[in-house]
Amino acid sequence: MQIHTFLAHSGRHTARAAQAINPPLVRASTVVFDTLADYKHAHHQTVFDAPRYGRSGTPTTFELQRCMAAFAGAETCLATASGLAAIVAVLSAHAGPGRHLLLNQGVYGPTRIFCDQELAPLGTTVEYFPEDADITPYLRDNTSLVYIETPASLTMDMLDARAVCAAARQRGIPVAADATWGTPVFFDAHAIGIDIAIHSATKYINGHSDLMLGLITGSHAALASTRRYCDRSGAHAAPDVCWLALRGLRTLAVRLARHEQTAMALALWLQHRPEVVRVMFPALPGDPGHALWRAQFSGAAGPFTFELAPCSETAFAAFIDALRLFSLGTSWGGYESLVLPAVPYDLRHLATLPDAGRLVRLHVGLEDAEDLCSDLDQALAHVR
Ligand SMILES: *Cc1c(COP(=O)(O)O)cnc(C)c1O
Repeated sequence: MQIHTFLAHSGRHTARAAQAINPPLVRASTVVFDTLADYKHAHHQTVFDAPRYGRSGTPTTFELQRCMAAFAGAETCLATASGLAAIVAVLSAHAGPGRHLLLNQGVYGPTRIFCDQELAPLGTTVEYFPEDADITPYLRDNTSLVYIETPASLTMDMLDARAVCAAARQRGIPVAADATWGTPVFFDAHAIGIDIAIHSATKYINGHSDLMLGLITGSHAALASTRRYCDRSGAHAAPDVCWLALRGLRTLAVRLARHEQTAMALALWLQHRPEVVRVMFPALPGDPGHALWRAQFSGAAGPFTFELAPCSETAFAAFIDALRLFSLGTSWGGYESLVLPAVPYDLRHLATLPDAGRLVRLHVGLEDAEDLCSDLDQALAHVR
């Protein structure tokens, strides 16, 4: 089955019983059983997608989890309250005193903050490697997980995920990846060798900027410790949110094709502007990560970054404030375009940023490219 057909037809197992085209929304805290045998069966460790208690999910949660697992080419899926909750669950399940976690430098800021400020003080050694490094010398006997994000948040640096997986596999170390940018539509994480794929479904999978959700995919074995962590920490997603995400999934591939087309048009347009020093978007043929992107991705999503020509803080603010179609706000993956001043992790402690090297992160929504370009054009007048 091809991708559009799959997304239209999967995740509808529970619809039949309700005589509806869509699966019903089941909300529950208490789950009741007819017999003691049924109760015991549901609470047996190996039964993952049977209702036990609201915290472990309802049939709506399981519908989304099964659909996402099949979509990602994985055995199983876990839904969590947010993308960050999914990241925290995977990292925590592999952390502990005497253990070493290895991550690439450009991971999502809150991922680094959690590692440095929550895991490290409890005795986990956390280390970061540059995206272009061979990870072999970084692997230790106590490395419990290699964690990557590609492309890196904000800087859009690419890394060779296949090489990372091969090096880790030689040492028997699992690899987890934040695959939010690519989604399974553009990035086949498990085929590349990634054991645990993490998605902030808050972004493209839901696609409408109205919920928070994380999804983790992998084999039963690869997700065993993360599943235990989720069960024990109560990291569950609400059924209402799962129901909406399932609806978002139906149009994911259609939306992404459009986001990609418009993002490419804007990136090419910005590249030739005198107010722009460089555009960081691996789908651009001149981008340093272009070859790696082509080798690992089948498409490009809508967020990318560009560097403005040196300008004052006032001119920069005037540019951002003049934008009418790009709303100023965190997150991305919805239908609407967004803009964000991108501050690399290493500069976050500075009260005033240097006039040179100001980075702007755009999320290109579903609007028309011509309208978005004219909006950028009138706003760029302020930094000319
Ligand atoms: C937004 C984001 C997250 C966090 O997801 P939330 O659902 O917002 O908690 C994780 N990784 C990446 C790459 C993101 O962009």
